[in-house]
Amino acid sequence: MTVRVGVAGAAGRMGRMLLQVAAGSDIDATLAAAIVRPGSELCGVDSGDLVGIKPTGIKLSDDLAGWLRAMDVLIDFTPPEAALANARLCAEQGRALVSGTTGFSPEQALEFDVATRTIAVCQSANFSPGVNLAYTLLAQAAAVLGEDADIEIAESHHRHKLDAPSGTALAMGDVLAGARGRKLTDVAVFDRAGKASSRTPGTIGFSVLRAGDIVGEHTVTFATEGERLEICHKAGSRMAFARGAVRAAQWLADRAPGRYDMQDVLGLKEN
Ligand code: NAD
Repeated sequence: MTVRVGVAGAAGRMGRMLLQVAAGSDIDATLAAAIVRPGSELCGVDSGDLVGIKPTGIKLSDDLAGWLRAMDVLIDFTPPEAALANARLCAEQGRALVSGTTGFSPEQALEFDVATRTIAVCQSANFSPGVNLAYTLLAQAAAVLGEDADIEIAESHHRHKLDAPSGTALAMGDVLAGARGRKLTDVAVFDRAGKASSRTPGTIGFSVLRAGDIVGEHTVTFATEGERLEICHKAGSRMAFARGAVRAAQWLADRAPGRYDMQDVLGLKEN
């Protein structure tokens, strides 16, 4: 079935990529709406013109409530507060939701979960197939190398990114802590400045770099006495996330209400 996709955050970095993928897709999808922030001066502009492709006939709008009935699935890459409000609208109108927003506070994450209980939601901090495969490899490495290995997660992103560490780095941390039977909140170390102590065994350290136009890089290091394993993912373009999100929308369209993620879409939980 050709899924009718709406894009929220259409004028953003990810939104522009999503417009291109949804409008010209080899994935079975069609662009049904393109939603920008309330009051945006871009309202009324053809979404194809915005991204330099042929006109799509879908004009940018700030009226998500009015456009929801035209779509099967909303793909939302807006900042957290807007994403929460948009999720509530999806639930009210019974529309499925692909959510790519990162940086929810714990309270917002809970509100999001409660608000979307009645609809199908696919939420992932990273929609690239490579990163989702990396989660599986990380769990395997953590299990095989055991407590002896010190684990460090390093991530780099562009200068505009709002949240740190990235949602993907935290998701990797969750996977790694879980593989050791721990909760990330109990073992994560985000800051070592001014602490004159050696490394606490079993902790998972995070380091963050923000610079230039780096799309997204994550390296997880497992280090023991005598050897080091690194699992590294580098995104060269936001296209990987956008294609993954549209693929998720296609997959989600005929699912029952519930919570899914990109690992479900890729069938990585079946192995
Ligand atoms: P961005 O700032 O470039 O784009 C966000 C857009 O949302 C802006 O154009 C803003 O005007 C718009 N917006 C704000 N409120 C809105 C509303 N109510 N309705 C519609 N649009 C609204 O940010 P970005 O780099 O595109 O990233 C967006 C989010 O996606 C961030 O949380 C980022 O971390 C996340 N992200 C996730 C993935 C993934 O694979 N899950 C990949 C990249 C980025």
